[in-house]
Amino acid sequence: MTTLPDLPHDSPATPHDLEVMREQLGRDMRGVVSIARRCGCGRPAVVRTAPRLEDGTPFPTSFYLTLPWLTLELSRLEATGMMAELSQRLEQDEQLAAAYRGAHERYLARRAELGDAEEVRHVSAGGMPTRVKCLHAVAGQALAEGPGVNLIADEVLAGIPGAFPELTCRCQAADEDAAEAR
Ligand SMILES: [Zn+2]
Repeated sequence: MTTLPDLPHDSPATPHDLEVMREQLGRDMRGVVSIARRCGCGRPAVVRTAPRLEDGTPFPTSFYLTLPWLTLELSRLEATGMMAELSQRLEQDEQLAAAYRGAHERYLARRAELGDAEEVRHVSAGGMPTRVKCLHAVAGQALAEGPGVNLIADEVLAGIPGAFPELTCRCQAADEDAAEAR
């Protein structure tokens, strides 16, 4: 197996990160290996997770998005029916489809660096390799790996101000929105 380059933004998860993630998710984040990407403010944005949780459950989502404002933006896009459109484009555009298959292979190879969960050995995330089913999952990969690995996710993220390739902090504005909604 060829060795992949190091993840460009990866850093250790500190006890403080675990606390922040608990706030972000409203529960403990399980299977944390490292922080694959941080928001501009330093908060965890994408967590790299173990292929198998401590209780033995396989955990295929190797790059897990935790950043609330970005999660919300992607959920809004999902609500517009964007995944059906993107899946259709994959059927029509052979070049894009090949790139997406490459992103799938990369996802599996990256996860294999951390161990093996044979039940999900051929399962990546987000609908890869032929469909787009979860924008959060594919965006997690793009944010962790940088541009050019998952072209579908690159394009989706490019449509969100401040999300990609730099990840600018919008946490404060999101906190204020949430406060107003209360
Ligand atoms: Zn932030």
